[in-house]
Amino acid sequence: MTQQILAIDDSQDIHELLDVRLRSEDVRVHHALDATEGLAKAIELQPDLILLDVDLPGSSGFEVCAKLKSDPRTQALQIIFLTGSSEVVSKVRGFDLGAVDYVTKPFDAAELRARVRAALRTKRFQDLLAIRAQIDGLTGAYNRAYLDRRLGEEVARTRRYDGDFSVIMADLDHFKRINDGFGHPFGDRVIQSFAEILLGEARSTDIVCRYGGEEFAVLVPETTADAALVFVGRCQKRLTELELKPRGEIVGITASWGLTDSSDVRGEPLTSEVLLERADAALYEAKRAGRNCARVWGVLPLQSAG
Ligand code: GH3
Ligand code: MG
Ligand code: MG
Repeated sequence: MTQQILAIDDSQDIHELLDVRLRSEDVRVHHALDATEGLAKAIELQPDLILLDVDLPGSSGFEVCAKLKSDPRTQALQIIFLTGSSEVVSKVRGFDLGAVDYVTKPFDAAELRARVRAALRTKRFQDLLAIRAQIDGLTGAYNRAYLDRRLGEEVARTRRYDGDFSVIMADLDHFKRINDGFGHPFGDRVIQSFAEILLGEARSTDIVCRYGGEEFAVLVPETTADAALVFVGRCQKRLTELELKPRGEIVGITASWGLTDSSDVRGEPLTSEVLLERADAALYEAKRAGRNCARVWGVLPLQSAG
């Protein structure tokens, strides 16, 4: 994927020169002529790399760098300083403020390109690690840490726009028996198959997370619990079609489901904790009702979803 560079420099000549010098690279160069425009574009464009002039009118490049590094929206962006001087003091200051490199004007074309490539390589690696840190290794679903963060964001959004939002908790039935009967590695395969079903049936805006062990949480934006039952129904059907044969015979796998949505808590503050608690309580009801079924938290008596 083409990486994005933002050049912040008050000289139009430098911008034109950078365009020419970086033409051979697989990058797109954006331009800003002062600190204010640069900071705004950094937030808006989320470039992979910022080429930052040290001598900006009004505000120095060091101040811009400090602002970028103290703002969570821009602190992961790579910064290379464009320095007029080769003074050691200003180079050291740039590194101390969080820049990864510097290039001295007038640029040597090959050196500029090499330094840009190195910074972009680091950024790609950093992005990859950031994604990995959110993903559960066994299943490829999001992990618990990501769920906690994302649930908070979705709850805030739902409160702001007074929209619909559902949380589903799903837990495999009698999973201990599966582990005990067929071994832990087979248990792992079952968990993977379950995750594949959830990920396959979810829409791209749904968030499937491994909550722990053989329990998953699915966040379903813009959807009521009643509508989310359709998703649960599709997953239930796919589970019945699974053909896992640890010893030649198909082992039946079922799950229980608990659902709740933002309308359940209208009239009292909507929080992540309340939604999780209610989805969990509904899941418990599904287990108590004999498993292999779904329950929606809310109006009593709890509705059955088969
Ligand atoms: P219930 O129907 O009430 O949910 O019964 P259950 O046997 O599924 O009970 P519970 O959910 O408490 O058991 C979960 C079991 O899952 C216990 C634990 O040993 C096992 N487990 C947790 N994580 C993993 C894992 O990563 N791999 C495997 N194979 N097993 C796991
Ligand atoms: Mg279980
Ligand atoms: Mg469990």
